[in-house]
Amino acid sequence: MSNKPVPVPDSETTPFWEAAAQGVLKVQRCTGCGEHVFYPRVVCPSCLSDDLQWVSVSGRATVHAVTVVHRAAAPFKEDLPYAVALVDLAEGPRMMTQILTDAPEKLAIGDAVEVEFRRQGEGPPLPFFRPV
Ligand SMILES: [Zn+2]
Repeated sequence: MSNKPVPVPDSETTPFWEAAAQGVLKVQRCTGCGEHVFYPRVVCPSCLSDDLQWVSVSGRATVHAVTVVHRAAAPFKEDLPYAVALVDLAEGPRMMTQILTDAPEKLAIGDAVEVEFRRQGEGPPLPFFRPV
């Protein structure tokens, strides 16, 4: 059994984790300016409106930056080597994630990726990405 740390939903992040449990990627969208917002927060970083709604997004993204992890302590050692990336969602927000691939060294900036939810241990499913 994995003993990896798991997310602890709070009042700002509960809608994100409830959607994740259904295999749906949601981010906030500002009704004031229309910007999509991630990470979850109470005020839009673009226009300071506090009218943020949760919306489903496509799950499509492109790699903004990527690195391959070759050394890690338990409990992540079992996953080596693995790719950690910043990906830009098609709707705009940038997320940190892990890219699921058997060839992490072949990943490159600009690669198209798609969300894939995967459970790790006792926590809710987490949004990983996979090359498309
Ligand atoms: Zn806004």
